[in-house]
Amino acid sequence: MGKFPYFTEDHEAIRETARGAAEEFKKTAEEADRKHDYKLIEKNLKRLAELNLIGIHISTEYGGEGLDLVGHFVALEEIAKGCLSTAFSFNTQRLAMDAIRLGGNEEQKKKYLVPACGGSIISFATTEPEAGSDVAAIKTSAVKDGGQWVINGTKHYITNAVFADAHVLVAKTSPADAQRPDFTAFLVDGDNPGVKISKVEDKMGATATPTTEYFLEDCRVGDEAVLGTVGEGLPLALSALEIARIGIGTQGLGLMQSAMQEAIAYAKERVQFGRPILRNQAIQFHIANMSSRVEIARNLLFHAAWLKDQGLPAAKEAAIAKLFATEECTWVCNMAMNVFCGPGYTTDYPIERFFRDSKVLEMGGGTSEIMRMIISREEVGKF
Ligand SMILES: Cc1cc2nc3c(=O)[nH]c(=O)nc-3n(C[C@H](O)[C@H](O)[C@H](O)COP(=O)(O)OP(=O)(O)OC[C@H]3O[C@@H](n4cnc5c(N)ncnc54)[C@H](O)[C@@H]3O)c2cc1C
Repeated sequence: MGKFPYFTEDHEAIRETARGAAEEFKKTAEEADRKHDYKLIEKNLKRLAELNLIGIHISTEYGGEGLDLVGHFVALEEIAKGCLSTAFSFNTQRLAMDAIRLGGNEEQKKKYLVPACGGSIISFATTEPEAGSDVAAIKTSAVKDGGQWVINGTKHYITNAVFADAHVLVAKTSPADAQRPDFTAFLVDGDNPGVKISKVEDKMGATATPTTEYFLEDCRVGDEAVLGTVGEGLPLALSALEIARIGIGTQGLGLMQSAMQEAIAYAKERVQFGRPILRNQAIQFHIANMSSRVEIARNLLFHAAWLKDQGLPAAKEAAIAKLFATEECTWVCNMAMNVFCGPGYTTDYPIERFFRDSKVLEMGGGTSEIMRMIISREEVGKF
């Protein structure tokens, strides 16, 4: 990789630290996957906090490093090379922190961001059984009762919620018969008796990042738990999700590089017809196609991150970067599997894990179809 215009010396220092952490996480990634060991992922998040990598883009006033989103994504790319489950949990922690960074008041930032930079975990929930891509179908309700809000509903597929110290969640705050529903974001402490963790999903890939269902049963919070403005929860969640999209694509960027490197190493060693398979132009072209995707994804992702850091609109760029990097990550993992063939399909090599891990990136933070809808809407406008 040549010198990249968006990276400064600070970013390179972050990359070095993150690379060291990724090497540590890589050693246990296979076992964490096999055992679906989310406790190990929790430990890895604490380790990232010790290395000051959790709050890279959070201002120093709130316990962070005062750098930028590009810095966070540099670290995330490296972590994804070592352990996708850790990277997925890491990026979701940043998503929850971003909702507070963008919408929180002074008190909330001090109360939640400072500990979060130090390793306390926050989850982020819009998704429910009836509200996936259609976030406005959220059924969880928050109703004012005296001086308190009473929240009831179910959140599912929520990353990190099982070990979270706090939850950011979006609930409907308009009456059921309202013409136009409105939604509000809340910050609920993990030890609130109204939050009941019901299950951790058994998944195909990224098995060690915990994907949790929880119920809210007469969960009572005061006005101090409202994040941002009452009725403005969806725009807040969607702006945090726009940044998360770049992060999900960045995980694809890290994962596809690991798949490509494994394929190159194997193709140099594997001898068929009397020579290493890498001597065949067909295999060299597979590598060229993988490498091209890595470079295009890197340019798209860091350009989108840079736009966000400048405070410039990036809805289209973030969606294109996420769409390309995640779909092509799946493609690269598939191609790496082709290079390995039989051994890649066994658990003797990490390729089958990479292959399984890649798919979730196309779903989280908005599916490929939703990315295409955003891109088309940005290009065409309303008609
Ligand atoms: C491992 C994992 C971790 C997750 N972590 C979190 C988390 O921390 N917090 C959180 O809130 N959510 C989380 N999610 C939820 C994730 O964001 C949703 O799965 C995703 O938004 C899609 O929702 P869905 O699965 O209900 O699919 P659906 O919305 O039901 O979509 C099903 C299919 O229909 C397509 N589709 C839907 N609407 C349209 C349309 N209008 N036009 C064209 N196609 C359409 C979709 O693209 C998809 O192909 C997680 C999911 C997974 C798998």
